[in-house]
Amino acid sequence: VKENGRGDFCFFAPEMNQRLMERRALEADLRRALGEGEFRLHYQPQIDLPSGRVIGAEALLRWNRPGWGNVSPDQFIPLAEETGLIAQIGAWTLQEACRLAVTWPEELGVAVNVSAVQFRLPGLYEAVAAALATTGLRPSRLELEITEGVLLHDTDETLAMLYRLRRLGVKIAMDDFGTGYSSLGYLQKFSFDKIKIDRGFIRSLGQDANSEAIVRAVVGITRSLGVRANAEGVETDSQARLLQAEGCGEVQGYLFGKPMPAEDFRAFFLNVRPG
Ligand code: C2E
Ligand code: CA
Ligand code: CA
Ligand code: CA
Repeated sequence: VKENGRGDFCFFAPEMNQRLMERRALEADLRRALGEGEFRLHYQPQIDLPSGRVIGAEALLRWNRPGWGNVSPDQFIPLAEETGLIAQIGAWTLQEACRLAVTWPEELGVAVNVSAVQFRLPGLYEAVAAALATTGLRPSRLELEITEGVLLHDTDETLAMLYRLRRLGVKIAMDDFGTGYSSLGYLQKFSFDKIKIDRGFIRSLGQDANSEAIVRAVVGITRSLGVRANAEGVETDSQARLLQAEGCGEVQGYLFGKPMPAEDFRAFFLNVRPG
């Protein structure tokens, strides 16, 4: 029981204590995970819409936590960010994704997520440069996916960093487009190589007129800007057909392939590739 300063009392609910303990345990496990080799990357195919060809994959982090099984990145990335562990995890991810992609056919690229916190921590540039140097991957085959959160802190430093990364020869994609506060403003500040339209807009495509209008407008903007558009989370044929009709160049989603282990992705592109 604690006095809260207004003369009354508040109680630490037992479930609060429980949550705190679970969080501590999660953090301790997360600190060990990298050294124990508990992370893996799954690869989700990215498809060129007009031709149906595989053009690459997005690398997505998976954690097999002992005693718990697979933990979703949505659960551990925030904690990795709070603890700063995301810097080491991110460096590993870059290294691993490049190491694999260099064994793929030359025309396939790999996209790696970089969170806003990770972007601001020291060492990102070095980690990207090191992954390219040690694997020998052609830089233009690596794409960094950043969210609007990166540009929320619209400092000169952020832009300078984006330009430094681009000078390495890597591509820069804007992830989850349309979910931020000033989505169009970000497009004005930096010339992205790709814009990924958030799954939220694709989900209701064909069901409500608003999302169709929004997707059409976003694809129109990308075309005017000369930027590639990727529609995320495509699950149905009708969504794919609508996107093709709107002129969206690239798709990703369960309809084409779920995130899969490296070996399965290799089988996937060998089967889908013509010739
Ligand atoms: P994201 O970057 O937006 O990744 C797309 C998420 O949508 C992935 O979830 C993917 O499995 C899921 N998805 C793809 N297609 C479909 C579909 O057709 N339907 C549905 N319902 N979902 C689909 P996942 O793998 O659980 O990752 C969640 C988020 O965690 C990612 O969102 C990304 O923000 C973050 N994340 C994952 N891996 C990394 C990483 O290596 N580094 C960082 N910083 N963040 C990562
Ligand atoms: Ca992403
Ligand atoms: Ca996304
Ligand atoms: Ca997301």
